[in-house]
Amino acid sequence: MDFTGKVAVVTGGANGIGRAVSLGFVERGAKVVIVDRDAAAGEALAAEIGKAAIFRAADVTRAADVAAYVKAAVDSFGAIDCFHNNAGIEGRVAPTAEYDEAVFDAVMGVNVKGVFLGLRHVLPVMIGQGRGAVVNTASIAGLVGTAGMPAYVASKHAVIGLTKVAAGEVGKLGIRVNAICPGPISTRMVQDIARQVSPNNPESVEETYASGIPLRRYGTAEEVANLVLFLCSDLASNITGAQYVVDGGRTAAPAGVA
Ligand code: NAD
Repeated sequence: MDFTGKVAVVTGGANGIGRAVSLGFVERGAKVVIVDRDAAAGEALAAEIGKAAIFRAADVTRAADVAAYVKAAVDSFGAIDCFHNNAGIEGRVAPTAEYDEAVFDAVMGVNVKGVFLGLRHVLPVMIGQGRGAVVNTASIAGLVGTAGMPAYVASKHAVIGLTKVAAGEVGKLGIRVNAICPGPISTRMVQDIARQVSPNNPESVEETYASGIPLRRYGTAEEVANLVLFLCSDLASNITGAQYVVDGGRTAAPAGVA
């Protein structure tokens, strides 16, 4: 996977999965535009990488911010070859019967509208170029339900829907759009969820959940990045409109009896 001469944009690129993807692109020769609302982490990562990276502070729910990071990418590096549409939030853990309306709106805002706005502003650039690859970050929560996370599950199902629609629209131009469905990955997000589920013993949540995963562990951000890079690369030249699971086997074979 060689991205020499390519330009990648990664939203939610300052931390967790997006950070690993940003570093992975740069290691393989790309220039990267790191987009995040966490300016401190984003600036620090761009400084660590050096001149192959720029950071743009943005809230992906705001169209003006999205237009600005797309313009910054084109102005700075001349194109957008790869787009990892990745920023997301988990919301609160609560049953549907008690779920807070404002939290529901916030989760849908980042995870659905943010992904839509990314596509809305990046696809015209890729259409103009006649090339490009997009990876939207869904989740295994985009494939199966999880009690206590109605907004997150609904939002990630929507990401897969947006992926299929966009893939159908731009495939004739050679532009590919795929989704990834990570299982539990050791990032701030799952640590937050664990603290909500078990404030006094968050580590127990990982132990219990991991025991139901065939590989018996959470994944790493780098393992997810490997999939994103593959889907953005020419090795995936016939893959579009697909959703790829990277979950240690969790959805294929949840805790069995043997
Ligand atoms: P993370 O919290 O480490 O990283 C998310 C990043 O997105 C942060 O840097 C945050 O500042 C940024 N962000 C959040 N809202 C934003 C906004 N409105 N505008 C701009 N940036 C914003 O979490 P992560 O685990 O790396 O999550 C990345 C993606 O992976 C998310 O879409 C998440 O839903 C998805 N995902 C994570 C897991 C997991 O287990 N960690 C599993 C499946 C899917």
